[in-house]
Amino acid sequence: MELQCQKCKYQFNSERLPNLCPFCGALNMVRNVPSASEILMEAAQQEEKQKEVEQRREEWKKRISTNQD
Ligand SMILES: [Zn+2]
Repeated sequence: MELQCQKCKYQFNSERLPNLCPFCGALNMVRNVPSASEILMEAAQQEEKQKEVEQRREEWKKRISTNQD
């Protein structure tokens, strides 16, 4: 997997997530860099959530208008 140090931005590949950055030695600063497909999948999930929020908003509008009548 692709990893990157959040402190010095050094990028490297490793099978395991190390506690220490191999470049600057920072502790617990190494994070997994998401691949392009992971980013796209996340964006699609965000879109789904947005649709759900819109739907709920519409339901609320209907509910409010019926309460007023
Ligand atoms: Zn580093």
